[in-house]
Amino acid sequence: MVGELDILNEWIPEQMQPGTVFVLENAGEIGEKEDPYWAVLSCPSCGMLGLITRRQINGLIPVICGSEKCSAQFFIHESEVVVRKPF
Ligand SMILES: [Zn+2]
Repeated sequence: MVGELDILNEWIPEQMQPGTVFVLENAGEIGEKEDPYWAVLSCPSCGMLGLITRRQINGLIPVICGSEKCSAQFFIHESEVVVRKPF
């Protein structure tokens, strides 16, 4: 698992390596009002792309990878990936 996120300012699909974040151009305008979608994150463990919300990018709630083959759960702390400890 990649330990640090890499923030892209431009959408370059070939550069969406594991642990890359691309902030949506319409961040905050889609999804739930309370916690809108904010960015696309390439899972730091498997590289699968998924949308993350404002609370996830601010580290308030964990990111859980959507891939069936990957069980990555982590918090984003600034630009670091903090693995969620199992309960
Ligand atoms: Zn994953």
